[in-house]
Amino acid sequence: MFKALVVEKNEEGKTSASVKDLELTDLPDAEVTVAVEYSTVNYKDGLCIGPGGGLVRHYPHIPGIDFSGTIEASADPRYKPGDKVVLTGWRVGEAHWGGYSQKARVKADWLVPLPKGLTTRQAMAVGTAGFTAMLAVMALEDHGLVPARGPVLVTGAAGGVGSVATAILANLGYDVAAVTGRPEAADYLKSLGATTIVAREELNETVKRPLEGETWAGCVDAVGGAMLARVLGQMKYGCSVAAVGLAGGAALPATVIPFLLRGVNLLGIDSVMQPYENRLRAWERISNDLPIDKLEAMIHPATLADLPELGAAILKGQIKGRVVVDVNS
Ligand code: NDP
Repeated sequence: MFKALVVEKNEEGKTSASVKDLELTDLPDAEVTVAVEYSTVNYKDGLCIGPGGGLVRHYPHIPGIDFSGTIEASADPRYKPGDKVVLTGWRVGEAHWGGYSQKARVKADWLVPLPKGLTTRQAMAVGTAGFTAMLAVMALEDHGLVPARGPVLVTGAAGGVGSVATAILANLGYDVAAVTGRPEAADYLKSLGATTIVAREELNETVKRPLEGETWAGCVDAVGGAMLARVLGQMKYGCSVAAVGLAGGAALPATVIPFLLRGVNLLGIDSVMQPYENRLRAWERISNDLPIDKLEAMIHPATLADLPELGAAILKGQIKGRVVVDVNS
């Protein structure tokens, strides 16, 4: 028997999540069984713990879009019992049962070995949010971003993606401006390395002018919506925005003028379907470029029983930093 957070749907279509006892035979068929150690809480997890947001296909469901742990059984030659592994993406926790469970059974292709220099707990302090933040930084660098070009903006900075992006960029020598709607998070963001705090209201306000002063050399955007539209008009000539999230909305009320007159690039970042080699590259960069002391400062410990409350909180933008769920406590 093992414990998992199970989301069930009743006849009226209402979902409810609670910790339940399951057996190994309840798990889906796949090559690898993992004794899960840690998971985390992402925006998508908030949706899947709750009514699903259209992501969950079948109930009962076990959410948790990422996890780290130890291989317990493997029918794939790449992994053997005792190996430490990490999983992010591949629609695990949405279309497939996920990491809010003491055991998970998944495809070997979906795993990567635990990155060198990280513990399983630290890997989930990074989690999908941190992995995605690294992909965004790599995309900006691939499009020419270097510290000498000027300040880099991070939106939704006190959230998971934003916190890790801030810490990585600051550690790489960038001048980081952090946008937050929570003034009380200013000290936290400065401790991660942000040099400037920008109030959310300053960028949420739409303006009629499609171009403003050239301010930012790069941007990791977790917010989307009106804020992304505004930021596009403030980018320096030839610079790029990595679009990661939609915490502020999926619509993009922008003009094409920043693309046409300033050669601004809008780079899409997807963490879910990244090929294996890119995953290894991103995790290696995380091990090298994310200071462990900064990562530790972001962590809020949690248990399986805390998840219904935390899922609701992340949907309201109330989670600061990274929640690390110890599924065995
Ligand atoms: P969090 O909830 O931890 O962070 C989002 C942050 O955005 C909040 O902390 C808040 O920051 C800010 N925010 C929330 N609501 C609003 C609003 N209405 N207007 C402006 N800012 C707002 O989520 P994550 O960091 O885990 O994820 C961020 C986004 O990235 C989500 O949309 C998520 O779905 C997406 N994502 C995408 C991935 C991909 O593969 N592309 C992978 C992972 C996440 P503050 O309080 O500082 O203002």
